[in-house]
Amino acid sequence: MFDPAQLARIRARLIEKKVTGPCPRCAHPEFVVLDRVANPSLYDDLEDPTFSSITIPSIVTACSRCGFLSLHAIGTLGFLVNGKIVI
Ligand SMILES: [Zn+2]
Repeated sequence: MFDPAQLARIRARLIEKKVTGPCPRCAHPEFVVLDRVANPSLYDDLEDPTFSSITIPSIVTACSRCGFLSLHAIGTLGFLVNGKIVI
């Protein structure tokens, strides 16, 4: 789980990167940063999509009104250092 200081750094980084637009579904301007990492997988083999060694550690934001979820790659946000999450 992220602590309050980490959540504040994540919010600041999103703002720094101009991730400030409204919700794409309901146009609400406010979002929350969830306190855990999502790790979606990419699959190469469409015949057997049961295992993947490729994942994208991600920050999850949720629209405060409708709950629409967005993922932001932790690496692109600059929080992945030598394969470790450093926030
Ligand atoms: Zn929304």
